[in-house]
Amino acid sequence: MPHSAYPHLLRPLDLGYVQLRNRVVMGSMHTGLEEANDGFRKLAAFYEERARGGVGLIVTGGIAPNFRGRLVPNGCQLSWPWQVFKHRRVTKAVHRHGARICLQILHAGRYAYHPFNVAPSAIKAPINKFAPKAMTETQILDTIRAFAQTAKLAQKAGYDGVEVMGSEGYLINQFICPRTNQRKDEWGGDLSGRMRFAERIVKAIRRLCGERFVIIFRLSMLELVEQGASARELPEMARRIEAAGASIINTGIGWHEARVPTIATSVPRAAFTWVTKLVRDAVTIPLITSNRINDPAVAEEVLARGDADMVSMARPFLADPDFVVKASAGAPEQINTCIACNQACLDQVFSGKRASCLVNPRACRETELVVELSPYSKFVAVIGAGPAGLAAACTAAERGHRVTLYERDAVIGGQFNYARQIPGKEEFSETLRYFKVRLEQLGVELRLGEAAPHPNVLAKQYDDIVVATGVKPRYLNIPGAGHPKVISYLDLLRDHKPVGNKIAIIGAGGIGFDVAAYLCEADHPETRQLDHWLGFWGIDRSLQQAGGLLSEPTPVSAPRQIVMLQRKASKPGSGLGKTTGWIHRALLKRYGVEMMSGVSYESVDDEGLHVRLNGKPLLLAVDQVIVCAGQEPDDDLYGALQSLGASVHLVGGARLAAELDAVRAIREGTEVALKI
Ligand code: NAP
Ligand code: SF4
Repeated sequence: MPHSAYPHLLRPLDLGYVQLRNRVVMGSMHTGLEEANDGFRKLAAFYEERARGGVGLIVTGGIAPNFRGRLVPNGCQLSWPWQVFKHRRVTKAVHRHGARICLQILHAGRYAYHPFNVAPSAIKAPINKFAPKAMTETQILDTIRAFAQTAKLAQKAGYDGVEVMGSEGYLINQFICPRTNQRKDEWGGDLSGRMRFAERIVKAIRRLCGERFVIIFRLSMLELVEQGASARELPEMARRIEAAGASIINTGIGWHEARVPTIATSVPRAAFTWVTKLVRDAVTIPLITSNRINDPAVAEEVLARGDADMVSMARPFLADPDFVVKASAGAPEQINTCIACNQACLDQVFSGKRASCLVNPRACRETELVVELSPYSKFVAVIGAGPAGLAAACTAAERGHRVTLYERDAVIGGQFNYARQIPGKEEFSETLRYFKVRLEQLGVELRLGEAAPHPNVLAKQYDDIVVATGVKPRYLNIPGAGHPKVISYLDLLRDHKPVGNKIAIIGAGGIGFDVAAYLCEADHPETRQLDHWLGFWGIDRSLQQAGGLLSEPTPVSAPRQIVMLQRKASKPGSGLGKTTGWIHRALLKRYGVEMMSGVSYESVDDEGLHVRLNGKPLLLAVDQVIVCAGQEPDDDLYGALQSLGASVHLVGGARLAAELDAVRAIREGTEVALKI
């Protein structure tokens, strides 16, 4: 019986020939294992853990139907019978636990990152240096056959169906949209011409794979690019896809080249489910909605108000494979929530690395980071309850060690306590809630407000000691650094020191950007409301405009005059996350934040901050100078413990403050605890 808190989410769905045990779809996500050596064994373990965790339906990462459709030259493709074997490993692993699985077929079109890419028309994508060739009629027909052939091979491999990727600006979407389809033949022109390619693909798959095979079509419902498809055509598009033979329609929001955030942490939860609802009356087949749904209560609400029939979550299943069993058990507080940071998943995939998860380093490493009971139950002390210490304490306790966690602050969380105060980063609180619950469950002895005992005591009382004391801010070293105008980011975010209207921020790294966003939005809670947020990013909720964009975003007024400075000559913010840095830069630009590179700092006095820019002196007459100049390790213990011959381990920022990020901190904490 579904848990009463989530009756809509946990209700089975009967498609006639296939039963789904609930309404939860694990959405498509490329992991990088698809192309790795021995990758399918690891991929099978990855999906098996999620199937065991109760998800109803899994959609794999995108697999190309032919060479030209591969995202990168070595991208995964399914076109030959000899490839079926490795996929069977995945489908068997999933079916063992009662879940269903569909293979996503993705032809990248003009987004393919190689010189053999093709598109409906020879129009280059702004995010790809390779211009596509326009497809010939023969190529179009061959590609339709290739889609069907891939689906047939997927069926042979035991997949319950396929998802045809028709959104996010990939090939099928390029045919549907006038922005990229300027063909004069029967594959372009009016809606029926532009939809022909999509409909023919669905029909070809249905013909080849029969009636008892799931075909999900991921339809682009909101493109967020100029000359996008018109939302007025949306119901008609959905009707055509159903008539062609699709079993389910999934929602696609935003092209990859769109300059509107659609899945980042600053996007309000469930911000786009109203778009899916627009096609509800047009079709009789089930609809899946998606984007920034990471919580069972939110998913339940979306389904209960009738926006869709199913909910797709991709990253939340990296963060916690047991999302569904925990929801079913009425224990949502135990879910390790995806904070939508992209730092270990999409940022890594787009850098050609294997995906993982900031809050769950075991994601995509299920066969490598195995948590097993230790043959000995040791006494372990963890010093510092920031992300690294929390991960170390929980993993050590999971392995049967008796763990004491010392934290000199009154709360757990370290740097996360500051991150979660930044508007648009509220999700960081979820990680702290998760760790708090986990520490209690595991019986970790938490000593809050307590400095670590003397090294002699630690060495005597504990078999192993993990030093995770984190970082301290780097202070400014120029004349006037002690002037009352100068404060650190901790003074602002931790102690809430009041600040004036004219601010200089020293340092344009992650924290400098966060502080600027805080100064712009923290006093304006309305910026977190959905309608305000949609207007800020120029999204036309009435969907009158093609592509769903307003001609001008809603104007905003800058609450403060802010200037951000760095010594490097490079563009400020260039070191921010690969998939999210542009969002931070765009946000501050909207608020008129000024950026200066290549400055040198001279002094601070009553007049303000004196700098040199291109060798010339410049006075910035500001009320405050906020120092966000990076960090240094905060570690006095490690050396002392080592000299006492203790078994001591140094992790996170205390080990290396440079380029500290929570991905590394949590991974190191977990890894060290697996070795104790
Ligand atoms: P950071 O990213 O390393 O940036 C430090 C900034 O301080 C740089 O702009 C650097 O620029 C400047 N700086 C370094 N030494 C200085 C000195 N002696 N005097 C004056 N300026 C100096 O460090 P952070 O901003 O503290 O962030 C720490 C880590 O937290 C980041 O690496 C990131 O992984 C993570 N984080 C990320 C985000 C995000 O992506 N949104 C947000 C928050 C935190 P110059 O050397 O050119 O002056
Ligand atoms: Fe979610 Fe961040 Fe993990 Fe990606 S890395 S799955 S966005 S928590």
